[in-house]
Amino acid sequence: MVEPLLRVRGLNAWYGESHALHGVDLDILPGETVTLVGRNGVGKTTTLRAIMGILPRRTGEIRFDGHDMIRVPLHRTARHGIGFVPEERAIFAGLTVEENLLLPPVVAPGGMEIAEIYRLFPNLEERRASAGTQLSGGEQQMLAIARILRSGVRLMLLDEPTEGLAPVIVQRIGEILAALKRRGMTVLLVEQNFRFAARVADRFYLMDHGQVLDGFPVAELPARMTQLTETLGV
Ligand code: ATP
Repeated sequence: MVEPLLRVRGLNAWYGESHALHGVDLDILPGETVTLVGRNGVGKTTTLRAIMGILPRRTGEIRFDGHDMIRVPLHRTARHGIGFVPEERAIFAGLTVEENLLLPPVVAPGGMEIAEIYRLFPNLEERRASAGTQLSGGEQQMLAIARILRSGVRLMLLDEPTEGLAPVIVQRIGEILAALKRRGMTVLLVEQNFRFAARVADRFYLMDHGQVLDGFPVAELPARMTQLTETLGV
C-alpha cells in the first residue's frame, strides 16, 4: 500500500477565538492532485492555511512525508517541502519577474533552476524585465507558482488559481499543472471552477462546516454533479 505524502486527521484551527476547522481528515498520495470543494466560508482556504502553519493555533495530526508537522512553525514548513500559493498571489509588485524568481522564500534541495522555470513558463521569460505591477492576472499567477517551484517543494497548496482569469489563461494554468504532475508534484487545490478541476484533479473532497464530509474520484464527478450543485448552491 502506498503511504500518503500528506495525512491530516482531526485538524482543528482557530482565528483568534473563532473556531474555523472542526476535525478535518484527508489524505493525499504522492503525485496526486486533490481538490477541495464546498460553499464559501466552509473552511477550504483555512485548511490550506492550517496545513502550512499560517494559522498557528491548530490541533490534530498533520503528517507530511513521515514528519509530524503540527508543531512546525510557518517559517520552517517550506523547508520540509510544502509551499503555498495564496489566492492573492503573493509576489513582489515592485520587483521584476526575474528578481521575484531570484528571491524565493526558501531554496530547498530540488528547487528548479531559472532556465527550467523559463522552459515551463516561456511567457515569464518574455516578461523577465517587467515589474510585477505590469503583469496581467494570469502572469502574476504563473509567477506565484514559479516562485514556489524555485523553492523545491513536493506538495503545493494552491488557493483558487483560476480566480478572475480568462479561459485561455485558465487553460494554460491547467497545462502547467499537468506538466508538474508528470514530474511527480503533489497538489492540494481549492477550486470553484469544476471544469478546470475535472481536468487536473484525481480526487475531490467535499467540505462543509469546517469538516470534510466526503471524498470521491474524478470519474464520479459527472454522477455527483446534481448533489454538488445542490450542496454548493451553484
Ligand atoms: P471562500 O471561498 O469564501 O474563501 P472558504 O471555504 O475558503 O471560503 P475560509 O476562507 O476558509 O472559507 O473561511 C472559513 C471560516 O473562517 C469562515 O467562517 C470565515 O469567516 C472565517 N475566516 C476566514 N478568514 C478569517 C480571518 N482572517 N479572521 C477571522 N475569521 C476568518
